[in-house]
Amino acid sequence: MSPEELVLAHADLRDRLFAAKLLVPCGVDGLYGRSATFEKVLNGVDAAAYALGIVDDPITISFPPMIPRSTFEAVDYLRNFPQLCGPVFTFTGDNKDHSELVHRLDEHEDYSDCLSLSEVALTPACCYPLYPSLVGQLGDGDGWYSTMGYCFRHEPSVDPMRLQAFQQREHIRVGTPDDVLSWRETWVDRIPKLLESIGLEFRTEFANDPFFGRAGRLMSRSQIEQELKIEWLVPVFGEDHPTACVSANYHQNHFGELFGISTADGAEAHSGCVGFGLERCTVALFAAHGTDVSMWPDSVTSVLWP
Ligand code: AMP
Ligand code: ZN
Repeated sequence: MSPEELVLAHADLRDRLFAAKLLVPCGVDGLYGRSATFEKVLNGVDAAAYALGIVDDPITISFPPMIPRSTFEAVDYLRNFPQLCGPVFTFTGDNKDHSELVHRLDEHEDYSDCLSLSEVALTPACCYPLYPSLVGQLGDGDGWYSTMGYCFRHEPSVDPMRLQAFQQREHIRVGTPDDVLSWRETWVDRIPKLLESIGLEFRTEFANDPFFGRAGRLMSRSQIEQELKIEWLVPVFGEDHPTACVSANYHQNHFGELFGISTADGAEAHSGCVGFGLERCTVALFAAHGTDVSMWPDSVTSVLWP
């Protein structure tokens, strides 16, 4: 498929989801309203992804879709992925500054220099707020967590699987390198079973994050060489352009060192996370089984709504 044909395929699936009123346009690519049916499927995927981790008895915790700017800066998001980031700006000026702002609005002029950085940023990955909360030494038997929430990444696209605002279910393990890597293996077993049970084809690959620029290319290569990121890719737009619907990341001691987290026996903690892209799985289900949920195979709906 040529790049032009791929864009047409993206727009075609997006338009089918609009026509079926599953997604509702908001005027910006990658920002959509969702119907009750879309949400029902998404919640079914989330429940199934959550249930897969219950055997680990995780601490389940939710955070708002924003993180402190201090965390956002500490995790190097702005340095590594400036093209995706969403720091929040607000107005902190006086009456004179306000008049200037209103003037710019009236004239449809750029007003970005009338705003200033706030103390929060939109969450880029829903596991980030967890790590600073774990500062100190983990108790015996601690180190399993599960969270779900909205993320923001600035990647506007007509592809309905590439959103600016989307939800992840994440399972997180913090512990020794062996703890984290053996835990990741359990997910390497579990994820294919879930995807097969809901009738999604996939393949697995070592992958990299979209680190920015020339320095980023080196980081991407090293991430692949060290096998830090595994993706489960679903070929919604053909085998040549599959989309990552689930990822497993090994962060080594990155967060343990940054936030001063140690294991129960005092060593610097390592961590890993498994992230389910809930909208991506949901859109992949509509692409695979059609936009009319009443026609989906019982084998699939019985997994989503047991
Ligand atoms: P990551 O934190 O990059 O490993 O992402 C975890 C999962 O979130 C991926 O496997 C995707 O399923 C999903 N995801 C990442 N970016 C997007 C996006 N722009 N739109 C929708 N889902 C996404
Ligand atoms: Zn994560």
